[in-house]
Amino acid sequence: MRRISIFGATGSIGQNTIDLIAREPEAYQVVALTGASNIGQLAEDARRLGAEIAVTAHDHLLDDLRGALRGSGTEAAAGQAALVEAAARPADWLMSAIVGAAGLAPGLAALRQGTHLALANKESLVCAGQLMLRTARESGARLLPVDSEHSAVFQALVGEDISAVERVIITASGGAFRDWPIEDLAHATLAEASSHPNWDMGQRITIDSASMFNKALELIETREYFGVRPDQIEVLVHPESLIHAMVGFNDGALMAHVGPPDMRHAIGYALHWPERRILPVQRLDLAAIGQLTFRAPCETRWPALRLAREVMETGGLAGAVFNAAKETALDGFIAGQIGFTQMAGVVEEVLDRISARPGHIDATMTLDNVVQTDHLARQEARDVLSKRAG
Ligand code: NAD
Ligand code: MG
Repeated sequence: MRRISIFGATGSIGQNTIDLIAREPEAYQVVALTGASNIGQLAEDARRLGAEIAVTAHDHLLDDLRGALRGSGTEAAAGQAALVEAAARPADWLMSAIVGAAGLAPGLAALRQGTHLALANKESLVCAGQLMLRTARESGARLLPVDSEHSAVFQALVGEDISAVERVIITASGGAFRDWPIEDLAHATLAEASSHPNWDMGQRITIDSASMFNKALELIETREYFGVRPDQIEVLVHPESLIHAMVGFNDGALMAHVGPPDMRHAIGYALHWPERRILPVQRLDLAAIGQLTFRAPCETRWPALRLAREVMETGGLAGAVFNAAKETALDGFIAGQIGFTQMAGVVEEVLDRISARPGHIDATMTLDNVVQTDHLARQEARDVLSKRAG
């Protein structure tokens, strides 16, 4: 039996992961399941899967979780330290599907133990890619991409020599506002930004898809995972979301990964890696689909892409600043403090402010420094938000 844990189990990726493992319960011993506010779901899944421990990120919900797990044999715990402790429990495989930089410390704790890390939590790689890769190298753990584009690239690279790679193309659906007139974007509402044309995902990543901040994070994620130069990575708008990524080789070949927009493919690939196993995803009928379309991304519509390129050029802890500023700007948009198109401006100003202060972006990449820089960027972003609000 493989010992596995699911962090962010109550979310969209977490539930899709549970869907796969619940199909063959005899194959897995579930170590830890974690969530935040949805105690009912967390406790129900922990009972059903016989988890050893369930952890909520919120200290004040510990009694609720204990109550919901009474008599189940599953231990209950709460808070950040408990998340890290649960991630460090011996396991073969851990799904990192917390949303945001909060996924970094538990992910690192798992890697330190040598646990293979299926990484949906792209934010941790954006904040601290070199630290995660180094930690994995030292313990012998594998980082297995779960983002659909990065899983696609990972699969296209099987048996290939990375030095033969000329370019990596990650596709983007274009999100909710792909076809809106640019001048209307400033008035986009939260409800409009929260609906995705192709994928069913958590609210935050759905809004990030509309603003392309998701693709911006994924540009940085591509660089970290595969070690390619920023100028080798391209974004291609592909409204059908069927080709997830392409790898271009030095003989001119482009290897494309084609599949339905169902995250169970990328999750399942990471779960069974290095094998391929039967997965319950739709088989595409390309004749019925008829055609696939592509267009170049417009950087006026999506300034997040330009910012990501600047962050890659800067390097160091710029990714941590970028992500923290983005998370806070997104909080501001969700709270109605700023408009949709103001998010990029907030992120840019925070990057400028922190770049002007030595000792942050150029600090050594340790967990403490990343956390400190993340906090500083959030503080600056809240200051920018309060000045721009209204
Ligand atoms: P979601 O909002 O549906 O779920 C997030 C999970 O994280 C929940 O279990 C929630 O309880 C937990 N959580 C939230 N805040 C937390 C905190 N501060 N501390 C600990 N746990 C916390 O999000 P999602 O769509 O499942 O996305 C999860 C991650 O996977 C994100 O990093 C996202 O970018 C990435 N991802 C998602 C998809 C997708 O299809 N949903 C695709 C690619 C990558
Ligand atoms: Mg993706």
